[in-house]
Amino acid sequence: MTSQLETTMHKIWENAKRAGRKPDDIALIAISKTRSVEEIKPLLESGHRLFGENRVQEAVEKWTELREAYPDVKVHLVGQLQSNKAEDAVALFDAIHSLDRMSLVKALAKAMHKLERKVPCFIQVNIGEEPQKGGCDIGALPDLVAAAEDAGIAVEGLMCIPPSGVNAAPYFALLALLAREHGLDNLSMGMSGDFETAIMAGATHIRVGTALFGQR
Ligand SMILES: *Cc1c(COP(=O)(O)O)cnc(C)c1O
Repeated sequence: MTSQLETTMHKIWENAKRAGRKPDDIALIAISKTRSVEEIKPLLESGHRLFGENRVQEAVEKWTELREAYPDVKVHLVGQLQSNKAEDAVALFDAIHSLDRMSLVKALAKAMHKLERKVPCFIQVNIGEEPQKGGCDIGALPDLVAAAEDAGIAVEGLMCIPPSGVNAAPYFALLALLAREHGLDNLSMGMSGDFETAIMAGATHIRVGTALFGQR
């Protein structure tokens, strides 16, 4: 096991225990954006099988080859998705964490129907209401959840990227509350700098890049 993976797994274990949760209930998504196949391989050799990318084209280039060598690998899309890339995304990814608008609900539903492939989705919420960030407004969430479910999309849970430079805990708590209100079980929240806080707030999917691969 790489030493960074070992350290991260240990922190997950510690914080899960502290929160009275089972460590196995927290999925570690290794965010491999910008990392080369050579940088990714040590994690695969360690037995890690869950990865995240933020760009469709980059993911196609890297993971088409890696999937042949590691057929049980899962790759999630965690970055913004343009509607015209919906079909490529449905073909490649095992989950999409960035469903954030009605037009994308339509594009993804159409692509899933065409390819006869169901890809579970997280709805991304712009939890700090920051104009430059992706994610739906909190007020738009009920309609978006309903539209996605009506379109036959499996809504796994909610995802957020809290504002940087401030304590993330209140934002994680708010996302957890919103998920409960909608009867959704999964929370994709927490990155290298704040995944321990996210675990305490109920994260089920943490997205960790730097702590596993080093500075980008
Ligand atoms: C890059 C990225 C991460 C990982 O960030 P680190 O700080 O490197 O752990 C998590 N989520 C999303 C959406 C990202 O784009």
